[in-house]
Amino acid sequence: MSDEPHPPVPGRPGGPAELGLTPAHPRLAADCGSCFALCCVAPGFAASADFPISKAAGTPCRHLSARLDCSVHDELRPRGFRGCAVFDCFGAGQQVSQVTFAGRDWRTHPGDAPRMFAAFAVLRTLHESLHHLGEARALLTADHPDADHPDAARRVTGRPPVDPAVSATLLAELDATRAATVALTGADADTLLAADLPAHRRAAGSAGAAAGRSWCWPSCSR
Ligand code: SF4
Repeated sequence: MSDEPHPPVPGRPGGPAELGLTPAHPRLAADCGSCFALCCVAPGFAASADFPISKAAGTPCRHLSARLDCSVHDELRPRGFRGCAVFDCFGAGQQVSQVTFAGRDWRTHPGDAPRMFAAFAVLRTLHESLHHLGEARALLTADHPDADHPDAARRVTGRPPVDPAVSATLLAELDATRAATVALTGADADTLLAADLPAHRRAAGSAGAAAGRSWCWPSCSR
């Protein structure tokens, strides 16, 4: 991978600082205008209840325009693209596009494309994990809107409220897992691609479950 900086492609504003993307604060909401349409290229999908057509991984969807817009965006569900309608990259797209690969577009840097697409899958897992860890943390702290209600934890998680002493331990575990995950999201492509994702999933899943928040991996089949 070349370290040569690449100017932003028109319509895809670049620069981590301009986008508010910093290694310490990855953004977990998708910003499609700062991504090179990775979700429409990197994953493959098979004709099914969620997709009317099949697409091989690493190839642009037939409905992706030259401007990297979806030409059927307003008709996804009527056309049978439910999988696209429900997909959420949790901000991994702009992270790969603008941070990991510093504004390089897979179209102008085809040699980077396979690693870019692979990094997208890794970062989506990490960003989804951060999303869930944040929700788990909110259950244990005043961040949660129901935190003052004595039955908040039971109503949200189906479990009894967490003892404050236990809660402090769980928070420490959550925060350590979150810090390690955040650090990894800012890593270079080689580090990301070498990451032990199963181990990460186990650690994040364990921390979340202990706090009363469990989730499955991946949350989306696409
Ligand atoms: S249908 Fe649209 S949103 Fe779905 S993969 Fe194709 S271009 Fe992307």
